[in-house]
Amino acid sequence: MWIISRSLVNKIFAHAQRSLPRECVGVLAGQGREAVSWHPLTNIAQGETTFLADPTEQIQLFKKLRAQDLDVVAIYHSHPKGAAFPSPLDQEWIAYPEALMLIVGMETEGRLEMNGFIHSAGVVKQQEITIRE
Ligand SMILES: [Zn+2]
Repeated sequence: MWIISRSLVNKIFAHAQRSLPRECVGVLAGQGREAVSWHPLTNIAQGETTFLADPTEQIQLFKKLRAQDLDVVAIYHSHPKGAAFPSPLDQEWIAYPEALMLIVGMETEGRLEMNGFIHSAGVVKQQEITIRE
């Protein structure tokens, strides 16, 4: 069970919307499986159907989080024209297998969805997420 507060979800959705037509990318940090802080990153990927976090920003963020004794709980990105499920590329993306892969699906205008996944023994498994009000 993963725990994310409603205010963090709203920040992710706002980031996804203002990044259109491109994907957004960012990090939720916290303890174990509970996210407490939101850290947007710059997507430097070419095109509108992929993401690549700015490596310098990412290294600085991970250093800062370590110094504060915070874990990378989740790494999120959006699918501006797709569903909240991993693309074939996402299924191969295992840079941080212990972090929740959060995907925002924006294919239905005005209705954003978010699902979380974990790589486990070569397959991507959807996770149960509790949104704390
Ligand atoms: Zn994706």
